[in-house]
Amino acid sequence: MAAISSNLLYLNTHRSPPFSHPQSWFQSSTRTKPITVSTIKAQASSRKEDIVIVGGGIAGLSTALALHRLGIGSKVLEQAVSLRTGGASLTLFKNGWRVLDTIGVGNDLRRQFLEIQGMVVKSEDGRELRSFRFKDEDESQEVRAVERRILLETLANHLPPDTVYFSSKLANIERSENGEFLLELVDGARLYAKIVIGCDGIRSPIAKWMGFSEPRYSGHCAFRGLAGYPEGQPFEPKVNYIYGRGLRAGYVPVSPTKVYWFICFNRTSPGPKITDAVVLKKQAKELVSNWPSDLLNIIDRTPDETISRTPLVDRWLWPAVTPAASNGGVVVVGDAWHPMTPNLGQGACCALEDAVVLARKLANAINSEPASIESALRSYEAERWPRVFPLTIRANLVGSALQWENQLVCSVRNNVVIPKLVRLGPLLEHTNFECEPL
Ligand SMILES: Cc1cc2nc3c(=O)[nH]c(=O)nc-3n(C[C@H](O)[C@H](O)[C@H](O)COP(=O)(O)OP(=O)(O)OC[C@H]3O[C@@H](n4cnc5c(N)ncnc54)[C@H](O)[C@@H]3O)c2cc1C
Repeated sequence: MAAISSNLLYLNTHRSPPFSHPQSWFQSSTRTKPITVSTIKAQASSRKEDIVIVGGGIAGLSTALALHRLGIGSKVLEQAVSLRTGGASLTLFKNGWRVLDTIGVGNDLRRQFLEIQGMVVKSEDGRELRSFRFKDEDESQEVRAVERRILLETLANHLPPDTVYFSSKLANIERSENGEFLLELVDGARLYAKIVIGCDGIRSPIAKWMGFSEPRYSGHCAFRGLAGYPEGQPFEPKVNYIYGRGLRAGYVPVSPTKVYWFICFNRTSPGPKITDAVVLKKQAKELVSNWPSDLLNIIDRTPDETISRTPLVDRWLWPAVTPAASNGGVVVVGDAWHPMTPNLGQGACCALEDAVVLARKLANAINSEPASIESALRSYEAERWPRVFPLTIRANLVGSALQWENQLVCSVRNNVVIPKLVRLGPLLEHTNFECEPL
């Protein structure tokens, strides 16, 4: 993967036109053919950037694509040398698919990933506690596990060439005298931007600059991996959950040849970062050594490069305590703003939702006279906060309940609550999301 040169973006000191001449400043170039994301060459340029998106993950690429479809150009700075391949897979519910359709990539992805019909919940001895069919609860529900790498490549391939700049790690951001923002990259490159969209994930330097606290560790970590079955995987298109004491696991077919799995376990502190796949696989298998053999076989079939262990973190956006989502022309999106634990499978879905809401509001502001970018960013927060704040809390509480260790509590959960009391429909109401076409 080629890196861009460090002199990609030069410091330019002359004054830029005001927002009142939007067309010439924000116009998105017309895409003639999909880009390949492997090599992006620098174009020496002395112009400033209007909209810079920091972070080329799900939030960054979907925001760039939503803006592009509204005729607004942007540049994405990604610290890595290529699109992220880690993180194995993500389960996307119907709200995520609504957004992917709106930005024009839903059907490309549907062709590659299986539709998941339902879920089965088992206890650690393999006893089935309950099963559900998603469409019985909600005819419009759509659930698929997608490979993160393919999701990112698909988003990037729908962007105009030269939108994503790799090896471009933001080191520092400052407000300049004329109200623009000076972005300094670790390699010394500097650029000015009128609008900065922080899509730089849970350790976001942009969020830090805006005064957000570090995300808080939830007390749980997750192993995850993507098992390969070149000869075809044998599982029904269902999410399989196995609940133990202070420990739970799951697996779900992603495609005809791949199966995603995870194990969540309690740990008082996140512990050291481990990248050795042999150690990770050994630790994962030890946790579930007496559990149904399907799970152990799936772990055995996991290529080293797809296995990881991640501490689960979140940030609760308490009103009056937490900084606003925007500060002048800087705004945060996705995990940079509202990291949430994965217990509802909603972090990426919400990042996608953020992207279309923000893009629509920005485009309206840019195309109006006079442009009011700051009020558009405040309106984005006003619309999104009531959505993401309760979800973050709910995801955390669900995680705590599922990670109980007490034997009596787990017995009541497995013998009474799950078989007799749980209704899936209300539990998935949060996947309702109206998404107008762009
Ligand atoms: C175990 C686990 C399971 C999950 N399962 C699901 C699921 O099933 N469904 C779901 O919807 N969500 C799930 N999530 C949540 C989901 O992964 C995140 O919400 C999603 O990745 C957020 O996307 P993002 O673009 O905001 O952040 P990220 O994906 O973290 O992307 C941030 C990008 O910014 C880049 N970056 C960071 N710093 C800089 C810098 N200084 N300069 C330039 N670039 C920078 C990074 O390299 C990265 O590419 C899960 C999370 C975990 C941990």
